[in-house]
Amino acid sequence: MILFLDFDGVLHPEPLYDESQLFCRIPMLEDCLRSFPEVSIVISSTWRDMRTLGELRGLFSQEIGSRIVGATPSWRDIPEIVATIGYQRHAEIEGWLRQAGVPWEKWVAIDDKPWLFKPFLSNLVVCDTAVGLDEHSVQALRSKLKG
Ligand SMILES: [Mg+2]
Repeated sequence: MILFLDFDGVLHPEPLYDESQLFCRIPMLEDCLRSFPEVSIVISSTWRDMRTLGELRGLFSQEIGSRIVGATPSWRDIPEIVATIGYQRHAEIEGWLRQAGVPWEKWVAIDDKPWLFKPFLSNLVVCDTAVGLDEHSVQALRSKLKG
């Protein structure tokens, strides 16, 4: 099982009211992921374009950071998959699964922009952009990671 993880609007509210909120939801996410040690993490945020994978891992605890196995390709680099899927972030996820050679792997995505995914996707957890991860979305994440 892979968790495709967005950052802005998930790991912190967007917009930020002040800098201290940056990544303020990471402890809540990590607490959840400790219950699912078999789940690997792939970064599906545009932060992938601004930081190295090592820097992205460094935002998390050693234990959780070491479970980050990659970042999705940009939709700009996979036009044929975007043409098939039709939704930007969903296509980036599909692109990563194919490039990694695991197209049938089960996955869950957490994101604050559902319009970047096919409608009614059962494996998408949607966060409130202005809040980020909260008790409600963490509960939804737990139940999908169990499934
Ligand atoms: Mg976002």
